[in-house]
Amino acid sequence: MSKVAQYLQEHLLGEVTASPEVRRHFAQDASILRLAPAIVVYPRNESDIRKVARFSWQLAQRKRILPITARGGGSDTSGAAIGSGILLIFTAHMNRILTLDPRKEFVTLEPGVTYDKLEQTLYTHGLFLPPYPASKQYATIGGGLANNALGEKSVKYGSTGDYVEQLRVVLANGEVIETGPLGKRELNKKLGLSTLEGEIYRGVDKLLEDNADFIKREKDQIKARWNGVGYNIFGVKKKGRFDLTPLILGSQGSLGIITEATLEVVGYNPRTTLLLGSLDELSSLNEVLPKLLELKPSSLEMINQAAISQVTSINPHQLSGLLQNPGAAIHLFIEFDNLKEASQKAGARKARKIVEQFGGVVQQATAPAEQEKLWKVRHSVTTILSEPQGNAKAIPMTEDIAVPLQALVEFMQKAEAIYRQNRLIASAWGHAGDGIVRMQPMIDLAQVGDRQKLFRIADDIANLAVSLGGTISASAGDGRLRAPYARKQYSDGLLGIMQQVKKIFDPYAILNPGVKTASMEEVRSLMRGDYNLNHRHEHLPRS
Ligand SMILES: Cc1cc2nc3c(=O)[nH]c(=O)nc-3n(C[C@H](O)[C@H](O)[C@H](O)COP(=O)(O)OP(=O)(O)OC[C@H]3O[C@@H](n4cnc5c(N)ncnc54)[C@H](O)[C@@H]3O)c2cc1C
Repeated sequence: MSKVAQYLQEHLLGEVTASPEVRRHFAQDASILRLAPAIVVYPRNESDIRKVARFSWQLAQRKRILPITARGGGSDTSGAAIGSGILLIFTAHMNRILTLDPRKEFVTLEPGVTYDKLEQTLYTHGLFLPPYPASKQYATIGGGLANNALGEKSVKYGSTGDYVEQLRVVLANGEVIETGPLGKRELNKKLGLSTLEGEIYRGVDKLLEDNADFIKREKDQIKARWNGVGYNIFGVKKKGRFDLTPLILGSQGSLGIITEATLEVVGYNPRTTLLLGSLDELSSLNEVLPKLLELKPSSLEMINQAAISQVTSINPHQLSGLLQNPGAAIHLFIEFDNLKEASQKAGARKARKIVEQFGGVVQQATAPAEQEKLWKVRHSVTTILSEPQGNAKAIPMTEDIAVPLQALVEFMQKAEAIYRQNRLIASAWGHAGDGIVRMQPMIDLAQVGDRQKLFRIADDIANLAVSLGGTISASAGDGRLRAPYARKQYSDGLLGIMQQVKKIFDPYAILNPGVKTASMEEVRSLMRGDYNLNHRHEHLPRS
């Protein structure tokens, strides 16, 4: 064990290891990058994290940088859950639900709780946290907050960040802060603090004040509903309140480490109505989607024909008998969860009419078993993501595009053309109602030609998204992998302001350095030769 690891083990309650096997295990997340940590720590409490931060801060003051990366389930696709220094694994011990108040509908929890575990607990009280990602089985709330994750219910219920009441965050120097909206008087108190927290409030307040008009103009360029790129400087000052929470959300552990979250939760209605609408013309979405959104569905998802064909070619019987119109260009999944049955039925009736007006075929289900069959079609994407074709695998790169709704069809048509030019299947799925499209090309990372193709497509797709007022990442983060593409989306001026935010929070660049700033050269140097999700088999301490 290294001297640093020994020192940390003496001072921490949680386990510390520098075992090559463990370091190898945590060298990957769900991205195509690889970076092994020097030390792995399984913190037992907030105090452990404070000690790690203080230790790293003191080293940095002596000009030695030992970075800290927080890690939940490691399902990050942007290469932000890996780091070269100390990796803090939250799933081992800091995975407890601390308080649940079903009457006031809030929950306080540690960051290593998975969405799935929280969901199971909340269901027993008739509650749920709606914006769960598709990776909810292993993704944690800490990772979800740090990426501001969203999912199939976000069209109605928003993102994980929308449910935050308060966060406890360990800063780069080991101080702890609690974030939340502040009025003028409370803000003035913070501005007067002589701590790092005070410096952060003063620095961010001045930065945003000095650049207010510029920031507003730049924000107006992005027309997509969701944007997870850079730091959310746009949300700090709202309605006379000042709140650091939006900066922490989506910061991917590069501004502070979340040690506790208090979240609002909402009533769960297990009785829903689901429609599967299959349309022959993709272009129908231009008119169908806005009309469907007026009905306030709880889900408005999609999968295209290419994806259905790809699933069927991998597993010919997987979708047998499930689709009445398997050849349709696009399949929509429209769910209503209104508490009043009559409103649910009315929504479903109107949705059916809209889809049929455009020549679509509609299948409808209210019984859970029948709904599961319909959802199976949307969730069959898993087959594409997990089944190699030869040595080629579905690769997440610019895979989390969001565009304004009115540009969705144009984006999908042009993205399909880009894929076809590169002799790739243009399978696409996503959150249609949010304008979010996911596409992952089948690529063999060991082949130089394939790698070149991957970068070519990523570049073309990012350019296309930005040209349509969209974003290169809705919720999966820019991280390391997509940081070079952020330069397409934001001007140098805006990126400069975001880098200043980082400097204010983390002057020595200890917290997840490289995330949101990596260059294309760095990305290429960290690329792995084989893509897999082997790290999903947990490597946690045993006793
Ligand atoms: C198959 C698949 C499907 C996915 N589907 C979706 C989807 O539907 N919607 C979506 O939004 N995303 C999706 N993702 C991306 C990812 O799963 C989510 O962003 C998820 O919320 C990350 O959680 P995690 O626990 O795995 O975090 P990790 O991957 O461990 O970490 C993610 C980021 O959060 C930081 N972090 C973790 N814990 C903390 C903490 N306590 N404090 C500060 N920073 C922290 C890490 O440093 C890293 O930067 C998907 C990924 C995969 C592989």
